[in-house]
Amino acid sequence: MKEIRTRIAPSPTGMMHLGTARTAIYCWAYARHFVGGKFLLRIEDTDQERSTQEAVDVIINGMKWLELDYDEGPIYQMDRLNRYKEVVDMMLEKGLAYKCYATKEELEALREEQMAKKIKPRYDGRWRPENCVGRPIPEGITPVIRFRNPDTGTVTWNDMVYGPISFENTELDDLVIMRGDGIPTYNFAVVVDDIDMKVSHVVRGADHINNTPRQINLYKALGAEVPEFAHLPLINGPDNRKLSKRNGDASVMDYEKKGYLPEALVNYLARLGWGHGNDEKFTKAQLAEWFD
Ligand code: GLU
Repeated sequence: MKEIRTRIAPSPTGMMHLGTARTAIYCWAYARHFVGGKFLLRIEDTDQERSTQEAVDVIINGMKWLELDYDEGPIYQMDRLNRYKEVVDMMLEKGLAYKCYATKEELEALREEQMAKKIKPRYDGRWRPENCVGRPIPEGITPVIRFRNPDTGTVTWNDMVYGPISFENTELDDLVIMRGDGIPTYNFAVVVDDIDMKVSHVVRGADHINNTPRQINLYKALGAEVPEFAHLPLINGPDNRKLSKRNGDASVMDYEKKGYLPEALVNYLARLGWGHGNDEKFTKAQLAEWFD
């Protein structure tokens, strides 16, 4: 059997969300369930405007408080910019990606035109090599790098939680994988990292289901094995809306401040979406044993 490797990959842009903690608990339990399973912590800090050291500390302290021990990491994406660049260069060379010089204004105009025609706004491939033969490269524009998404076919995966999910490639456009400043976008960095870190099971919030077909296309283009995906329904507040600062109490460390025991929080969160018969209280060792 192949090695089980899971990871939690939070973006350090605020408090540690209860949903992140629950995902981490499931990733931890799944890795610990198998002999030799590994659990990794990766900090997705490429959003330079919103990422803070304080938020990184909150995540690391939160993991410590909940006793979710990880085997590798924290790995910071901002430490891996050279690696993303290396993969981008390879993709450019192989024709898997291309430089796009479209300006913000141009893309905005395209979007408005498509909206007026009542078609779904999407990039039209104007800088795909075959579409710009002989067109001069505009001066003073730093290009972004786009992935050449397949034009036809269906992307399907068997989600470990949601079952089979499919998207048509005609619904996807050519994703920006690297911005002009050399910083990769989430969908690209996450794939390069999960390949390099040999992640076998990607467990994360269901808000990422729409990203998954794009990521699977990237795995395939890079000739990598596609991992298993398990998407978790988001945790909602009492009014059935997504749990947030304003709706319920979404911050892990606030529970510490209120005097909750970490064992109680782990126990409660584990049961939000999973269960072992009617067992209401269990140890972390039992959770690891039961969680499959
Ligand atoms: N940084 C992403 C998030 O916090 C990670 C998603 C993923 O696990 O792929 O939502």
